[in-house]
Amino acid sequence: MPLANGRPFGSGRRVSLFTLGTMRALAGPAPMLAVLRAALTAGINHLETAPAYGPAETFLGQALASLSAEGLEPAGGWRITSKLLPGCDLESGRHQLRAILSRLGRPRLDSLAVHGLNRPEHLNWATSGPGAELLAWATGEGLVDQVGFSSHGSNALIAQALATDRFRFCSLHLHLFDQTRLPLARSALAEGIGVLAISPADKGGRLYDPPAQLLADCAPFHPLELAYRFLLDQGISTLSLGAEQPGDLAWAAALAGPAATGGVSDPSSPAIPDSPAERAWLHPEHHQALAQLAAAGRERLGPERCGQCRACLPCPSGVPIPALLRLRNLAVGHGMEVFAGERYNLIGRAGHWWEEVNADACRRCGDCLPRCPHQLPIPDLLADTHRRLAAAPRRRLWG
Ligand code: SF4
Ligand code: SF4
Repeated sequence: MPLANGRPFGSGRRVSLFTLGTMRALAGPAPMLAVLRAALTAGINHLETAPAYGPAETFLGQALASLSAEGLEPAGGWRITSKLLPGCDLESGRHQLRAILSRLGRPRLDSLAVHGLNRPEHLNWATSGPGAELLAWATGEGLVDQVGFSSHGSNALIAQALATDRFRFCSLHLHLFDQTRLPLARSALAEGIGVLAISPADKGGRLYDPPAQLLADCAPFHPLELAYRFLLDQGISTLSLGAEQPGDLAWAAALAGPAATGGVSDPSSPAIPDSPAERAWLHPEHHQALAQLAAAGRERLGPERCGQCRACLPCPSGVPIPALLRLRNLAVGHGMEVFAGERYNLIGRAGHWWEEVNADACRRCGDCLPRCPHQLPIPDLLADTHRRLAAAPRRRLWG
């Protein structure tokens, strides 16, 4: 199978524009095989997995063996990334890495990430603790081509990690509807560090199932197409997609698969030129749709729109004001209450993987008020956020 539109990924081999995340096709070996087969057809050569995803590595190893027995693999072979949670000692880490390779049936990994470099102690573990020894051993033994990290941590921590020069790639939350980490991604790419966007479809706003208002705001394009095109235009190395079934890969196939030809708004009918990864992903009609989307949000939010500048921080009560008001922006501005409610109700329930304090913690001290360049009534908006979103259902999924 030809590799369409590959991009450099740190110091490793080039990867496809989309990466198959393996945290969803976990109902059994057969669904994983079906998804892997669809990924191959969609031109995907990069697979991301982790021991923390339950049976994912075992199922993936079986699926890789099945396709190999059929003589099926991408041109140049699969690129595989797995991850290790920080905190283990050297011997335990060695054992875990060997177990990963055994489950996958591979002699080596292309990429090994520190899974969730979310706190300073995780960075210390990876750069001066047992993790540093573990990562050096893994590359020295030829078991891993390059090491990197995924992070849900603060921008300051991510910047610190990137500045250590220890990591060749990173996996970050980079979304059309959450662009705060884009400057970090750009500077990483400029340094030759590969950047993977974590789940633009799901974590980026449940864009595979958009509300009617968002669909209308993005018309004539699907919101997911706009989000993918936006990130590809930014030069992000690869976008992860946690497919549960083959149909979940339709947009990846339409936009970047071997048959992709650009300019599509319907994943079932791709058309136009086959072009390299560095083609222009945003044409005038996409820019127009993005402007229309932004204008619709601004109009609905009016003077209550949070500009995400972060000038209001720090809050003495630890309220993550911009993160909470971003959820309000999405709910009020684009009808994304379901997504915003899911994220809001995970606060305090996902450890260091997400925010730990919600809007109810605001004590109305007023410290933030003079710092907001938009003179937003922050305590009132936080109370409104809590009232709108606190009762929504919640769920938890890795990433
Ligand atoms: S008013 Fe609320 S959000 Fe603002 S600084 Fe005080 S406690 Fe924090
Ligand atoms: S200072 Fe105002 S506009 Fe900026 S992030 Fe805080 S609340 Fe939003």
